[in-house]
Amino acid sequence: MSKSLSEQLKQEVEKRRTFAIISHPDAGKTTLTEKLLLFGGAIRLAGTVKARKANKHATSDWMEIEKQRGISVTSSVMQFDFNGHRINILDTPGHQDFSEDTYRTLTAADSAVMLIDVAKGVEAQTIKLFQVCAKRGIPIFTFINKLDREGRNPFELMEEIEQVLGIRSVPMNWPIGMGRELCGVYDRMKKQVEQFQGDDHSVIKVEKVEDYRDPVIREMAGDYLHDQLCEELELLDVAGDEFDYEKVKRGELTPVFFGSAINNFGVQTFLENFLQLAPKPEIRQSTEGPVDPTDEKFTGYIFKIQANMNPAHRDRIAFLRICSGKFERGMSVKHVRAGKEIKLAQPQQFLAQDRDIVQEAFPGDIIGLFDPGIFRIGDSLSQGSEVTFDEMPTFSPEIFARVTVKNALKHKQYQKGVDQLTEEGTIQVFHATGVFDETILGVVGQLQFEVFEYRMKAEYGVEVQLLRLTYQFARWVAGASLDPSKFRINSQLVTDKNGNYVALFENEYAMRTAMDKMPDVTFSETAP
Ligand code: GDP
Repeated sequence: MSKSLSEQLKQEVEKRRTFAIISHPDAGKTTLTEKLLLFGGAIRLAGTVKARKANKHATSDWMEIEKQRGISVTSSVMQFDFNGHRINILDTPGHQDFSEDTYRTLTAADSAVMLIDVAKGVEAQTIKLFQVCAKRGIPIFTFINKLDREGRNPFELMEEIEQVLGIRSVPMNWPIGMGRELCGVYDRMKKQVEQFQGDDHSVIKVEKVEDYRDPVIREMAGDYLHDQLCEELELLDVAGDEFDYEKVKRGELTPVFFGSAINNFGVQTFLENFLQLAPKPEIRQSTEGPVDPTDEKFTGYIFKIQANMNPAHRDRIAFLRICSGKFERGMSVKHVRAGKEIKLAQPQQFLAQDRDIVQEAFPGDIIGLFDPGIFRIGDSLSQGSEVTFDEMPTFSPEIFARVTVKNALKHKQYQKGVDQLTEEGTIQVFHATGVFDETILGVVGQLQFEVFEYRMKAEYGVEVQLLRLTYQFARWVAGASLDPSKFRINSQLVTDKNGNYVALFENEYAMRTAMDKMPDVTFSETAP
């Protein structure tokens, strides 16, 4: 007898884990992602005697594997199975690609893995991405990487996480030595040691122990390191936070794991623990009330639209996160904003380079839809209902430029381009309020300007010129006492696409001054 849909949904939702890795460039995100993906198949580099040899050829091996299995770490979404779970990793683009896109991708994740370089600690981009996750209250798991190198004291790192990010942390394991002295980690929950051996630390031996005082560890690590371990863990037992699952779920406490991605050390334990603790797709808020992933009616929303980078295909891909119900190829759904039924005929999945056609997918999964220009970021698709998910955050642009068209005759094309690219959500457009009609673009990351210039030319045949402005902040302003004449020094008043007033400021001081002068005016970071 075949399973009922509701039973199938329950099972599929239960095993799904959809997350993003957030980090500053160079912390090792690519490396960690590769290692995680390797667990998805029969290939295992860790825990085997061959590990060392395999590691030496990691890059070329990886490329070969990539070819064979069609996985690409440059994909936007990667899916694999491990220990009975179906895992979706969402890629958050690196430094130069940093944009609103990055933020929006995070709305599609149910949890996040924060990757920190043991020597560098909490870095700028990690802070930004963390804040987005914290705002949503999703669980955040921390992996402190590059333990094979000399790094900072673990206590100091935990303190930094708390000071800078405002989240308490609870170490799940603890390093025994570091850098050249590193010989393993002690797993506080399972009460076992994971031992590193060999020059590249890649061979792992796992041994159950009584607790961290166990003489087995002393034998392995020597007196000095074992004394240090005991001292540190005693301190943690007394002064550290206790593991509290509810707090983890609310994003108030982050479980911390130490490891070395490149040596595949600590990665498997991390993955196992993570899968156990990380949430499955949960209820999402919508305009129609809470939507349970096991609801039989299909719902989902678009969180990212990407132009095809392959010039042979001019189509765009819209990334849809499934929120409830079962997706089946060829099904008809309602495009809620447009009020139209559409058929999802050619859904794509991003695991494979040659874009597998997806036959079915479940809540937590991401599918790619061919987009002939009908989708916008935030659009909902559903079976029957008028549901929309109000999770699309908009962010305050931080970089601004005045845009002019080189050939005035192309104005119509230019307008079309600006409209479409704004709809994709990576740039915001503003208009000067003065006598001259001036268009100002605002973005979160510099690369968006380059992409804008390139795409205007490639897709709309319009050459634009961008003049970088010195503004750093945008605030949506409203209130009866709003006085446009007060935005002249180090600031400018503009309107957004809906006609709302937005004040641009060159610096924090100018912004504070304006706030002080107009106490009755509200200053918000995003559009109302
Ligand atoms: P991403 O920019 O965050 O994707 O970082 P990558 O994965 O490209 O790694 C940046 C650099 O750090 C590369 O040279 C990696 O080989 C190196 N790296 C990554 N993980 C480790 C680690 O555990 N130990 C050491 N020593 N180097 C690492």
